[in-house]
Order: sequence, then structure tokens, then C-alpha cells
Amino acid sequence: MQVIVIGAGQAGSSCVTKLRNLGFEGDITLIGEEPAPPYQRPPLSKKYLLGEMDVERLYLRPESFYGENGIDLRLNERVEAIDPAAKQVVTSADALSYDHLVLTTGSTPHRLPGAIGGALDGVYTVRDLKDVDAMAPEFAEGRRVLIVGGGYIGLEAAAVAASRGLQVTLVEMADRILQRVAAPETSDYFRALHASHGVNIVEGVGLEQLTGEGRVSGAVLSDGSELVLDFVIVGVGIAPATGLAEVAGITLDNGIQTDAQGRTSDPAIWAAGDCASFPYRGTRIRLESVPNAIDQAECVAENIMGAGKDYVAKPWFWSDQYDVKLQIAGLNVGYDRVVSRINDDVSRSFWYYQGETLLAVDAANAPRDYMVGKRLIEGGKSPDPAAIADPETDMKDLMRL
Ligand code: FAD
Repeated sequence: MQVIVIGAGQAGSSCVTKLRNLGFEGDITLIGEEPAPPYQRPPLSKKYLLGEMDVERLYLRPESFYGENGIDLRLNERVEAIDPAAKQVVTSADALSYDHLVLTTGSTPHRLPGAIGGALDGVYTVRDLKDVDAMAPEFAEGRRVLIVGGGYIGLEAAAVAASRGLQVTLVEMADRILQRVAAPETSDYFRALHASHGVNIVEGVGLEQLTGEGRVSGAVLSDGSELVLDFVIVGVGIAPATGLAEVAGITLDNGIQTDAQGRTSDPAIWAAGDCASFPYRGTRIRLESVPNAIDQAECVAENIMGAGKDYVAKPWFWSDQYDVKLQIAGLNVGYDRVVSRINDDVSRSFWYYQGETLLAVDAANAPRDYMVGKRLIEGGKSPDPAAIADPETDMKDLMRL
């Protein structure tokens, strides 16, 4: 029995490790186009970018782990095509046969079009080690950086840059930062946090043009203002890496479509992580997070071993900015009101409800609120919003619901 996993990232590494832990005795090949063994990406916009973490600490496991566990880890090798009829993959170096194929190809960051200066030197995205190593020398005190996009990655990069003494402007086209993913209360919290560190956040304004001869040296915004710059970081979202699957005729639907067990439209091909969309509470979603990549990939490994298990997503996420840790439990899609719990100036949580049903919690420096919220959501329980808002309510009491 031969399992091939395409994409040596968080989900790919989790899948092959789980297979061996479950006692899978067949051949396993893990193919990745990057030169590094599978590594964690979250520190790329946090501690690693700050220069507080060595590259080896990013690795999920030492490179020797794979060989020691009979996993053929092939780095610097790109899969060029899949032939589902012949059950073969063609890589930049080889042609290989599989019984089960797992797609954990992750996602690709959106780039700015060349016509508005996206191809100038000094314009960076934050997806992989190569990106961050390339931008690291730009982070010198006093330099001027423009961050395009006020999602979590843009805000984390802004926090690192401000902490290192750079002059930071962040431009967000939507009315407010985090608009796609969070309530106005959470946006307000992080806007104030960044303002207190001197970051200039400009909302409701787009980037019109990056300017410069060969290298970026300025920007024109849609309100007509002009900035003088040293470099630019682009954090305007990602697209699931579906190219291989599409050419192979596998069904796509906002990512590679899987059933509840992680199988694609081809029964010998599975998908997990950022690239996969799966059924969730009567709809179909795709999650871009480490916990999802791990849990979904492990579920696929179990199902390759015949478990017949549905993936039950328990979404959670985090973001670190300055000395604030934001923890998010649940998915806020469809919320119609938000209840704030103010513990103190920096410790707050925002609880998302749809009617009387609790959907999600954003907890900023409020680990207890996060823990209680997560347990309640996973248990399908919804506390009285008035009790949440009352700072006198002991969080422990809510657990007795
Ligand atoms: P990846 O880890 O991206 O792995 C996919 C791999 O497949 C890549 O190495 C890619 O090169 C390879 N590949 C693709 N196509 C081919 C091919 N044809 N041939 C060979 N190899 C191929 N999540 C959180 O939960 N919390 C956070 O705080 C957080 N912060 C983040 C910060 C940054 C800067 C980034 C970039 C992501 C962050 N994430 C965070 C998201 C999280 O890292 C991803 O959701 C997770 O890595 C997804 O795992 P994956 O295995 O699906 O994809």
C-alpha cells in the first residue's frame, strides 16, 4: 500500500505522522516544493519576524524524524501533475504510483497586480520562510513601511514593525480593519492598541499605486494622499492552492471539495488543511488555521486506515500583537449581536450570538473567558448575554449551564 501526500506543510506533516502512529505499515511519501522540512507558519508574522526565534524552532519535527519513521520526505520537489486514472503523480524529478493520494497543498497569497506596482522590488508577501527571510533586513529602526491589508497577518506585521521602531502606515480598503473576520468591537480594540504604539491606520481607503524606479519608494492612496516609503508588506488574503486538483478534474467549491471524511470527488484522493472545503453545520466552509490543518489531516489518516470517521471541526484561532494575545473560539458566521465583557483596559472578550445561540468568542488577554467560551460552544450551550456582560459574573458559574 502506497500513500503519497502532496504538500509538506502543517497538514501534510500531521497526516503522515498520524498514519505511522496508527500503525500504518505501507510506504509513505511526503512531497514538498520548499527546501525546509515541514514548519509552523504562525511565528513567521510574530516571533520569527521579530528575530526572537531560530529557524530550527519553526520545524514541526527534526528533519531526521521522517527517515527514522520510514517516511520518504522529498523536499525541493514540486508535483507537476496528477493522473487519477493511472493513480500516478508526476513531480519535477520522478513519476510515482499511489493507492491513496492526499492533497495538503495549502494556499497562495494574493499579490498586488503589476500594473499598480506589485512587482517592484521591496514589495513582500508573508507566506513562507523565503518571504520572511527576504524582508528581514528591511526591519531597521526609522524605516517607513506601508502595510496593505488590515487582516490578522497585516496587523501582526504592523505590530512587529512598530515594536522594532519602524514608521508604520497600514491601509485597509474596507470601512474597518478585521471587517471580514470580526465584529466592530474587536476592530476597535485593535485599532486603539495599534494607535497607542504609533501605527497610522487608514481605513476605508485603497491603495491606488505603488511608485518607484525598479524599487518601491512611494504610494498613492485612493484619497489622493501620497506616502514616501522604504518597503511594503502585502496582506490581502490567500487563495486555496487548487491548481493540481483542478487540472486532474477533481471537483472544486471554494477549495478542493471533500465529503465529511475528507475524500474528494475521486475516492482515492483526499484533501485537508487550507486547500480543502468541507461540510459544516449544513453549509460548506474552508478554514485557514493550524488547528484545522492538524485535526482534518489526522482525520484523513484515520479514514485511510478505514475508520469511516466524520471530521467534526472545532474552530479556534489566535493572534499575537504586542503584548496582547487574542484567542478565538467558534465561527462567528451569521452573528446578529455582540456582547462585550470588559474585565479591564486590556482584558476584554466579545461574544457573538445568533438570536440566543452563542456562536463564537474573541478573547483579548482574557484566557479564562476564552476557555469557558470554547467549552460552552463545543457543548452547544449558550449563556445569558446579560450574565456575560456583567463583570461580577464568575466565569466558572457559566460552566455549570
Ligand atoms: P501549508 O502549511 O501552507 O503547507 C502547504 C505546503 O504545500 C507548502 O509548503 C507548499 O509549498 C506545498 N505545496 C503546494 N503545492 C505543491 C506542489 N504542487 N508540490 C509540492 N509542494 C506543494 N493559523 C493559526 O491557526 N494561527 C495563527 O496565528 C496563524 N498565523 C499565521 C501567520 C502567517 C504568516 C501565515 C502565513 C499563516 C498563519 N496561520 C495561522 C495559518 C496557518 O499557518 C495555515 O492555516 C496552515 O499552515 C495550513 O496548513 P496547510 O498544511 O494546509 O498548508
